[in-house]
Amino acid sequence: MLLTDKKIAIIGGGPGGLTLARLLQIKGIDVKVYERDINKDVRIQGGALDLHTDSGLAALKAAGLLQAFEAKYRHGAEKTRVVDNQAKVYYDQHTEDTVTTFGDQNHRPEIDRGPLREILLDSLKPDTVVWNSHILTLEPDGAGWKIIFQNGNSAVADIVIGADGANSKIRPFVTDNKPVWAGVTMIEGTVPNSEKTAPNIHKLLKDGKIFAYGNDKTLIVSSKGDGDFGFAVSLKTDEFWVRNSGIDFKDNKQVLAWFKKEFHEWGGVWQELFSNEKSLFIPRPQYCMPLHQSWKAHSNITLLGDAAHWMPPFAGEGVNMAMLDALQLSIFLTNETLLNVQTAIDTYQKQMLNRFTKVGNMTMFNTKWMHGPRALQNMLDMFSNNLFKQLTFIVKMWLSTSFIPFIKKVSGTST
Ligand SMILES: Cc1cc2nc3c(=O)[nH]c(=O)nc-3n(C[C@H](O)[C@H](O)[C@H](O)COP(=O)(O)OP(=O)(O)OC[C@H]3O[C@@H](n4cnc5c(N)ncnc54)[C@H](O)[C@@H]3O)c2cc1C
Repeated sequence: MLLTDKKIAIIGGGPGGLTLARLLQIKGIDVKVYERDINKDVRIQGGALDLHTDSGLAALKAAGLLQAFEAKYRHGAEKTRVVDNQAKVYYDQHTEDTVTTFGDQNHRPEIDRGPLREILLDSLKPDTVVWNSHILTLEPDGAGWKIIFQNGNSAVADIVIGADGANSKIRPFVTDNKPVWAGVTMIEGTVPNSEKTAPNIHKLLKDGKIFAYGNDKTLIVSSKGDGDFGFAVSLKTDEFWVRNSGIDFKDNKQVLAWFKKEFHEWGGVWQELFSNEKSLFIPRPQYCMPLHQSWKAHSNITLLGDAAHWMPPFAGEGVNMAMLDALQLSIFLTNETLLNVQTAIDTYQKQMLNRFTKVGNMTMFNTKWMHGPRALQNMLDMFSNNLFKQLTFIVKMWLSTSFIPFIKKVSGTST
């Protein structure tokens, strides 16, 4: 076997890294996950995630974890309401049936980030994850790597997999490619105990999701199983807006004042998002890795998930791509017919980067229209029962995913 007697170090215990650890461990491979969080009880922020049949759910199925997922996902949490900036409802999935059959392409079950992490952690052998291991850098060590941590510790491994997310420390050891500015800044927030602290939005949310559009701005609200909700507002800005805005995002009064000014055309109900003093806000300037990126395969290191192909979250594909990367990489690394580890990594990377070109194109297409004047209408067309409207949208999408790469390739423009 390609990995006989090899130590594998996965850097980052997010959905991508933990899925890979599980998939390798069930094949008997020696794997450790180094995660910067202090321990497993750290509360994971962020809204719920919908897993897709051919990617996130396919990885869980291969990992033998579909039953555990079925026990923990939030039935009905995928139900979406599309509203305008005054919170007027234009489309409501709560009034119709959504697909709930596992295996159906249209089934998009939602799970909170915490329970998803729990399922993956519980599936691993004790001590697979080494907590409080914030990686600073790597140093070559024979044919492998020495991994240096912020706390002064170090470890060695034959093969390193960078699964350490958007601002990966491992990426520069694999490629010179850098994320490209996507033109949008997102402010992510969590509202605790929303029934009490944001009652009007809580009612509108109905334990599901809200997509709101107006004035070239977007808001996504996502219920959580613990009574909180997560949300993200986004708008077009320049790349350094967060740094230059002078806003202290830990000072909730300053964030509310900014929202009132910048979203002054939006109805007063949305101010509930920013009015709770216990809410937490994270500004997230949005970047995308170059859509046509490639890099040479190494024999002892590669990337997966956001570390490989960070992109804005406007296609809902990030976690699904990270888990599918883990599945594909595990398949190639354990394929007896491949010549060596470098060939396995090369085969994985070609598939993963190809897939990213398509998904990244769709993501950037969505990022653009969701922050344009027709956002609400486009979203309604997408959900519409009107075949002509749906087809128009699909053609636009197809033009974006098929022609743009072609045009760019032909014209030689970079992304
Ligand atoms: C506001 C928002 C909403 C989103 N909504 C969706 C959605 O609806 N659907 C969807 O599919 N995707 C969504 N995404 C994207 C999704 O969260 C990511 O694509 C996904 O989490 C990527 O998984 P990953 O395992 O590659 O990286 P991550 O989830 O980022 O995990 C990386 C892990 O590495 C650890 N780490 C980082 N640096 C170090 C270091 N130096 N040393 C050690 N450990 C380190 C981190 O603590 C973390 O545990 C959203 C993202 C945001 C910001």
